[in-house]
Amino acid sequence: MSSACDFLVIGAGPAGMAAAATAAKLGVSTLVVDEQPAPGGQIYRGVEQRDANKPGVSHDDWARCAALAQEFRASGARYQPNTQVWQLEKNRKVYVSDGAKASCITAKRVLIATGAMERPLPFPGWTLPGVMTVGAAQILYKTSGWVPHAGAWIAGSGPLLWLYAAQALEAGGKFEGILDTTPKANYVHALRHGINALRAKEYLDRGMALQQSVRKSGVRIIDDVNAIEAKGDGALNRVHVHTGRHWQDMPATRLLVHQGIVPNTHTTRSLNAAHRWDKAQHAFAPVADAWGNLDAEGYAVAGDGAGIAGAEAAAVQGRLAGLEAARALGVIDAAQRDQQAMPLQAELKQHLAIRPFLDQVFAPRAGLLTPHDDVLVCRCECITAKQIREAAMLAGMGPNQVKAFTRCGMGPCQGRMCGMAATEIIAHARGVSATDIGVFNVRPPLKPLSLAELAALQAP
Ligand SMILES: Cc1cc2nc3c(=O)[nH]c(=O)nc-3n(C[C@H](O)[C@H](O)[C@H](O)COP(=O)(O)OP(=O)(O)OC[C@H]3O[C@@H](n4cnc5c(N)ncnc54)[C@H](O)[C@@H]3O)c2cc1C
Repeated sequence: MSSACDFLVIGAGPAGMAAAATAAKLGVSTLVVDEQPAPGGQIYRGVEQRDANKPGVSHDDWARCAALAQEFRASGARYQPNTQVWQLEKNRKVYVSDGAKASCITAKRVLIATGAMERPLPFPGWTLPGVMTVGAAQILYKTSGWVPHAGAWIAGSGPLLWLYAAQALEAGGKFEGILDTTPKANYVHALRHGINALRAKEYLDRGMALQQSVRKSGVRIIDDVNAIEAKGDGALNRVHVHTGRHWQDMPATRLLVHQGIVPNTHTTRSLNAAHRWDKAQHAFAPVADAWGNLDAEGYAVAGDGAGIAGAEAAAVQGRLAGLEAARALGVIDAAQRDQQAMPLQAELKQHLAIRPFLDQVFAPRAGLLTPHDDVLVCRCECITAKQIREAAMLAGMGPNQVKAFTRCGMGPCQGRMCGMAATEIIAHARGVSATDIGVFNVRPPLKPLSLAELAALQAP
């Protein structure tokens, strides 16, 4: 079955909900699809079901997100949950599946609001049972209340690490300790952004309060960790940690790892839209104008998928993209759009003031970006760092030749887990920057699709 709408929004996180609500309230026929069963995105996952008094839940955040979800529900935008986008075409034909049947939605305008993902950094033992990401643990907490107990360690760097640690401790969880890989020098380098960051002081206050609550809880914190290995025979039983000049071994039953978040660019890259290397965020991001417009006609991007800026900024960017959709569809004119956008642009500037500081403090440790030869990088196709390095050095191969040569990135995750690491390894091996190397081309389906779902697709 195929359907049509004027404005299609992919993703019902803060950016997607705000964009849809803004456009629908102006009278634009709007449809939102999201692979999750309920609106909220990553931060506000399950907000409509969540208990505001649950430990670890910020009341301000909860109130903000509940209000946005309510506004979205009341806006007149149609909403299709449990719907995964698996292909986008230049003519704004967007292919989706509800898990049983694939179908095509044709739209005059499409907003990609697919958010962020955790930066996948392969390290020795990262595929052992017992090792998972902090983001995955947080999803378990948000959806089922699960928190770790004996034998758990958290390792890595980034605001989400501290947020999750504080949430889990408040909810009665226990950790053996935190292995903080943030290089000490990052704090010194970030000082030059300090004055600007003070313009968004509430973010600094929130971040410091989280770190202090974790430190005060008495959890052991090992700072300036420069390498981590997960060890065990068939399952994790210890972590091997390098600080200063020596290694130490700690018993562990669970290791939660995190190295910051990066824009989820799979969808925008699948359109062959232009992308740039964001040096500060150490990641690729789509090239978009101030309204989120991409160089693929009728497509725009908003929220963390356009560059990491946080949930509040994502919602503001969503509203700007909603106004721009209404303008592009002839519902308002440019002057009306600009007038309504003015306070939003000022608000966005305020939220963005903190980013250079945060990006510098939580810049990934260089030594962790390029794993040793024997580390498995592509988990789907079992390709090691050594295989990628060797292929890269054959006639100066780039990521797509390495992909064809080794099958790295050809598995069900379509390079989501190994793509960034492959770029880093190739760039390092060839002595050039990631921007010169680029990333894997993205091929449909963006997410796994069964033959039965595909067979149910009718020609649009
Ligand atoms: C694992 C994780 C946990 C996070 N937790 C927090 C937190 O607790 N607090 C905080 O301040 N920030 C958190 N962040 C950062 C946070 O995600 C963002 O700042 C904020 O949610 C960005 O909003 P967004 O609307 O851009 O994207 P999101 O909120 O991520 O929303 C994107 C939506 O798009 C949907 N989507 C993606 N791809 C497809 C597809 N192919 N088909 C259909 N739907 C799709 C997703 O299901 C999701 O609902 C987290 C980030 C990650 C990666």
